[in-house]
Amino acid sequence: MTAAHPMIEVDGVDKWFGNNQVLFDIDLQITEGETVCIIGPSGSGKSTLLRCLNHLEEINTGQIRVDGDIIGYRERRGRLHEMKEKDACAQRVEIGMVFQQFNLFPHMTALENVAFAQIKIKKTPKAEAHARARTILERVGLAARADFYPSQLSGGQQQRVAIARAVAMSPKVLLFDEPTSALDPELVGEVLEVMKDLVRTSGMTIVVVTHEMGFAREVADRVVFMADGRIVEQGEPAAVLDAPQQQRTREFLSAVIR
Ligand code: ADP
Ligand code: MG
Repeated sequence: MTAAHPMIEVDGVDKWFGNNQVLFDIDLQITEGETVCIIGPSGSGKSTLLRCLNHLEEINTGQIRVDGDIIGYRERRGRLHEMKEKDACAQRVEIGMVFQQFNLFPHMTALENVAFAQIKIKKTPKAEAHARARTILERVGLAARADFYPSQLSGGQQQRVAIARAVAMSPKVLLFDEPTSALDPELVGEVLEVMKDLVRTSGMTIVVVTHEMGFAREVADRVVFMADGRIVEQGEPAAVLDAPQQQRTREFLSAVIR
């Protein structure tokens, strides 16, 4: 494994919703093991870009590869055809996603939530999946909550279960879409701590859409600033956050509370 193995390659991607273009010629390369934070104003296309990475959205132009595989499309006789949903699902196993709303199954305990996809999709034997789920729940500080239902957990705890669920699948890539935006302020820290631990210890390729500038500064290898469907600038956190080159970035940063 070379240090510069490309894990995510976004090449000339345009995305339209009806007559409304929301992504413009996006190029983005992310190296294996890299942590990238995407920042930018609301409506700039951050969530759409993340959703394109695992083909929750189709793209209109360009191409996305994850670990070399074209996402959502198959090449046949030199042309791209959209994949069957079943094949897109198989690709998504490699690309974990954590949403703003935790999306846990309400009728399953924390443990069952974390074990479910391992059993259902990876066909891991139940005892093994449960043992793994316990280990990962312990890692996110929830060993004592394994048998609780989502409704019995705080938002911060639910989001940590959602992170554990994603990690349990050992994805190549982990995507976070504003994972702390729905949380009460006093619960944000515990979720960010779990994410920092993942960044430091997992070696996974991690992409986080966030408004937490302190987090981006501390953990990101690179910060990408998006506005109006375009990548406006990117670079090391200190470069983008402290010495932005573009006026649009300066305007955004001066408007967010840091
Ligand atoms: P961000 O995550 O940066 O706030 P989004 O990716 O959610 O931005 O949205 C980018 C643009 O795409 C916005 O103008 C939004 O209204 C539009 N959009 C997002 N999802 C849909 C959808 N499912 N249908 C139509 N328009 C959408
Ligand atoms: Mg969004």
